[in-house]
Amino acid sequence: MGFVLITIDSLRLGDMAHIDLPDAQVFPCVSCAPITSVACASIMTGLYPPRHGLRNLTGYSLRKDVTTLAEIFKAAGYSTHAVVSGPPLKKFSGLGRGFDTYDDNFESFMRPYQQVLHAAPSLPNDDHDDFFLWLHFFDLHPPFPVHDCSLKAVFDARRSMLEGINDAIYKLAQRNSVDRFIVTSDHGEGFCLRDKPMWLGHGERLDDVDVNVPLFLGGFKDCWHPWALRQVDILPTVCREFDLQVPIGIDGVAAQDQTEELWAYSESYLRPHRAFPNLRSVRRGLELLVWGDNVFSCRGAENYDAMRDLLAKLGGPRPEGGEGDGLAPEERAKIEDQLKVLGYL
Ligand SMILES: [Zn+2]
Repeated sequence: MGFVLITIDSLRLGDMAHIDLPDAQVFPCVSCAPITSVACASIMTGLYPPRHGLRNLTGYSLRKDVTTLAEIFKAAGYSTHAVVSGPPLKKFSGLGRGFDTYDDNFESFMRPYQQVLHAAPSLPNDDHDDFFLWLHFFDLHPPFPVHDCSLKAVFDARRSMLEGINDAIYKLAQRNSVDRFIVTSDHGEGFCLRDKPMWLGHGERLDDVDVNVPLFLGGFKDCWHPWALRQVDILPTVCREFDLQVPIGIDGVAAQDQTEELWAYSESYLRPHRAFPNLRSVRRGLELLVWGDNVFSCRGAENYDAMRDLLAKLGGPRPEGGEGDGLAPEERAKIEDQLKVLGYL
């Protein structure tokens, strides 16, 4: 059995119209955080950030006592490989745990999807080998390679990049050895307050455009619902599809087991930007509650008890947990230089 997970960084829910994949069901999906490594950690663990411990781009890493999807596949005898393409996903994040190979070998602030595919181990041509492959594409992440910085030019550039990415994924998904695949994103893109004038970006805000992303499930059975899934639901959904043990006590619920839409939690603790408050949100359907140090907004939220239960489980408003990132000073300086290019610092 072969399973390929592709995360397209900064893919917005509205981009789903540019993606056409064989035998795939598409869902809206709520990101746990508009920050790459934080969201990917929730995909990989089925846990919300306060519980997996990776709360920001640096300074945190995945808690050592949580189980990753790669560890689950590896324990079941699968070979496990990952190729990533952005600085937040370097090995210091802890996301390489459970992978036989975790390729984060690039020197610049990113590498394009063609290089990611080139670095990936060649897949078997038939269905005899069990493998899990994770590819992370960073091409849609700002800064955009456009001379004309109008919004139209940016969206045209995004669409052009997506056409190439879609062709590559389509070919990958049609390989005989790929039995199931998932294509999704870590977070969306909204108007980013860091840039002046305001520009497309992500990190601080938890509006719908920042956290709503598409989720394509390729070849999965019995998953369809008319409601949004959550990033924490991806791990248990994959485990149910591949008949693997779901870790006890995770926050996600397999799509196959859901009978109603569930509350989705998101947070943003982008520490360097204290001018904008840290935010947390819960949402379900059209109901939404967003709050921060001095911010409270609400849209049709009626079930406050359910929200209070979720927040009580996830603890206080300040980011805690995590085990440090273990970066040496020169490594930290290098990563911070790359994050500056991406607009975070
Ligand atoms: Zn990202």
